Amino acid sequence: MRSVIIHNPLSGFGSDAIFEFERALVHAGDECTFRALAPDFVADGAVGDVDGFDICVLSGGDGTVTGLLYALRNRGVPVCVFPSGTANLLFANIGNAPEPAALARACRVGHTATVDLGEIVWKDESGMEHVKGFGLMSGTGFDAQLMEAALPNKAAMGQAAYFAAAFANPRPAVEEFTIVVDGQEYHRRGISCMVADNAMIQGDIQIVPDCRMDDGLLDVIVIETQDAAQVLRPLFFGIVDKTGKSIGRPHLEAFRGREITVRTENPVPLEVDGDVVSSGVTEYRARVLPSVCDIVVDSMSSYHSSSDVPARFADADEIAFPKE
Ligand SMILES: [Mg+2]
Repeated sequence: MRSVIIHNPLSGFGSDAIFEFERALVHAGDECTFRALAPDFVADGAVGDVDGFDICVLSGGDGTVTGLLYALRNRGVPVCVFPSGTANLLFANIGNAPEPAALARACRVGHTATVDLGEIVWKDESGMEHVKGFGLMSGTGFDAQLMEAALPNKAAMGQAAYFAAAFANPRPAVEEFTIVVDGQEYHRRGISCMVADNAMIQGDIQIVPDCRMDDGLLDVIVIETQDAAQVLRPLFFGIVDKTGKSIGRPHLEAFRGREITVRTENPVPLEVDGDVVSSGVTEYRARVLPSVCDIVVDSMSSYHSSSDVPARFADADEIAFPKE
């Protein structure tokens, strides 16, 4: 088996788990390339030569991993997402077992699911157009403000930084959103309008029910409230009802579609998979890129389809090191 591990050493808390994973992945006769990303890495360059490998492992935070996944779209190389970031939301949405040895085994077994990504386009203040891929959520308004506020505390506080930031900003600005979903126009007042490939956030909470990354659609989520406490209340309800199916999400409205345009009167911050990419945009466009990536899934994942396909690398249960 020939594998390449692309690791961002600056992601998360600097854990050594990726080396434990590598040790479990590599068996006698295998070849493994370990690539540590430079701080100024370019995603296309980092994955430029992966086509000859049996598997490509992406290790980093959500921003790193989804950027690399986008660069890997339509390449046909099986990709394993390894959780090395602060929140690891994409990994949580895939739902694989998190132990390094279990993930290494999933790579050797080699079952994959074909999933969608999102692509978002916006213009910055100087009128220059930008395009980025995403695998979680992107959009404008309160959520982006929250990410920006949480950023300085992320390393020290981890996920709690997001909740602290939400409490510190109790009255976010209300905007008039014009939302066009596959040609149908809607007008909504709210504090945030996001598009989602995946909608599970911190604490295993599903913001909207049944959001999947294999249905060829993006979910559009509007938060129609002006009080952050009202946003947090459904989040805390989420602790007892993580799917959102039994009590609903009274302050959220959701649409589904393939092509989405969102406009506001005033410039609002824009976030792409947890990174604030602009402090003020008045329009963004998003579209789904259906079935563009093959990701490794194990039997814990809701994307795993039961099959009798034998393990791709037959010695999947054997662990090379440590040995007596
Ligand atoms: Mg979807």
